Amino acid sequence: VQQALARNLKASKEKEFVPWMVHEIRENFVRVFRPHVVGDFYNERYVRKWIRIVKRSRETEFFTYTRTWAVPDYFDAIVELGRQPNMQLWLSFDRDMAVPPRLKGFRRCYLAADDEDHPPQKVDLVFRDYRRTVMKRAKYRVLVCPYDNGVTNTTCSKCGICWRKADECKCKTASRQVARG
Ligand code: SF4
Repeated sequence: VQQALARNLKASKEKEFVPWMVHEIRENFVRVFRPHVVGDFYNERYVRKWIRIVKRSRETEFFTYTRTWAVPDYFDAIVELGRQPNMQLWLSFDRDMAVPPRLKGFRRCYLAADDEDHPPQKVDLVFRDYRRTVMKRAKYRVLVCPYDNGVTNTTCSKCGICWRKADECKCKTASRQVARG
């Protein structure tokens, strides 16, 4: 796995990364694509490469989670990426971080460390990596990822909360408030 990650990182720095990704996405008729199953955006240049890829792949729905909203150096680039019509960019955080800002077009998700760990305010989704109990809703009635709730037998392809637009998915947690921007 480490070797594959190192290879991906190297590829992402290549000059041909953008056309190569666009070509692969088109050739394989990719309907939904998640950059970064692990990892995150590591600098502004890299975020801007994804903006170009997403813009050139309008038939594909992109989604991913990022903690880089907390990095002032490329906050503007993250906002531009997240506002592409075919990108669902989740602002993620945990108990060791500040709460992400409310931004038009973005949803916020909380990664719980254990069953007693709840988001400090109403957000859009909770993930539970280390779960021992059944929990469909966390504090503030925040929806728990159906895959992580300890009871639902679902898959991401059936659920789709993460990659569907907030007003398309059936989750009642989608933040529709408009604040900054
Ligand atoms: S099951 Fe749904 S909410 Fe959970 S990760 Fe998959 S798409 Fe997202």
